Amino acid sequence: MRVAFLGLGIMGGPMAANLAKAGHEVTVWNRTPGKIVEGARVAASPEEAARGAEVVWMCVSDTNAVESVLFGPGGVESALVEGMIVVDSSTISPTATRKFAERVQARGARYVDAPVTGSKVGAEAGTLIFIVGGEESTVDSLKPLFAAMGKKIFRMGEVGKGHAAKVAMNLQIALIYEGFAEGITLATKLGVDPGTLIPLINASMVHSGVVEYKAPFVLKRDFSPNFPLRLMHKDIRLALEAAKESRVKLPALETVEEIYEMATEDGHQDLDFAATLNLLEKWAGLEVKPVLAPTA
Ligand code: NAP
Repeated sequence: MRVAFLGLGIMGGPMAANLAKAGHEVTVWNRTPGKIVEGARVAASPEEAARGAEVVWMCVSDTNAVESVLFGPGGVESALVEGMIVVDSSTISPTATRKFAERVQARGARYVDAPVTGSKVGAEAGTLIFIVGGEESTVDSLKPLFAAMGKKIFRMGEVGKGHAAKVAMNLQIALIYEGFAEGITLATKLGVDPGTLIPLINASMVHSGVVEYKAPFVLKRDFSPNFPLRLMHKDIRLALEAAKESRVKLPALETVEEIYEMATEDGHQDLDFAATLNLLEKWAGLEVKPVLAPTA
């Protein structure tokens, strides 16, 4: 298929590369020029990339970025034609998504929100999980593209429901990781070797995909960004905003949001969100480091 891919960050770069590798005709655009994707043509604006494309796929930081890529100067809007499909794999506001979709659909084009889970490793390996909102027939027509970038699609309902589900997923990741970080900090203070604690966690009912993914990085003290703290902070705010709009109370997330505020004040925003552990370490006066090499 002819695809315009907009946004070549940690996620978008490898996603576009996997589309090109699968034989699709890909044109890429990134706000900061200079990023290339093997096998893809480079365009000078979202509009130029979108001209003649069957599908326009976005993966940019936040709600404002999507709005500007679609409707800002040199945006996709003026290249929209009947039948074109616009897909958004960023994680953004479900409410704003419905408004963007209406504006795109007014030009005869179709809109699908398709945020992802699987992080940098999943984007590179082509094993992402897509969490999708949109008309069933439109979603079905995107299957060859989903297959090139991911391993599973979950259709949650109409436009906006993909982002709604994704925000609810990331709320849980933030809370699960915070539980892990607090547990491992306390255990270290009590003299338990974190290298011994992780295999116990993984063998017990405390086990989780979040800990499985993050623990090896923590034990190596590698806080380079897989999922930057600033983006998880954005998702926590999206969840709190959606909760406020729908009169839901999220007291644990409100507290965790304060931790992200403090981690940002400490200058950790561009590190992985796993670096929220550093704040707990600072307060406890210790560093979570294995004494013995981890066994699992
Ligand atoms: P990233 O590495 O920070 O990349 C962000 C991309 O958005 C870059 O291409 C950036 O362009 C572009 N961008 C930012 N502001 C823009 C604007 N105003 N107009 C146009 N382009 C703009 O982020 P990422 O990790 O790839 O994440 C992208 C999206 O996927 C986010 O919504 C994130 O929450 C979501 N996500 C990330 C992960 C993960 O593990 N990383 C997992 C699931 C979902 P420049 O190069 O010019 O800065």
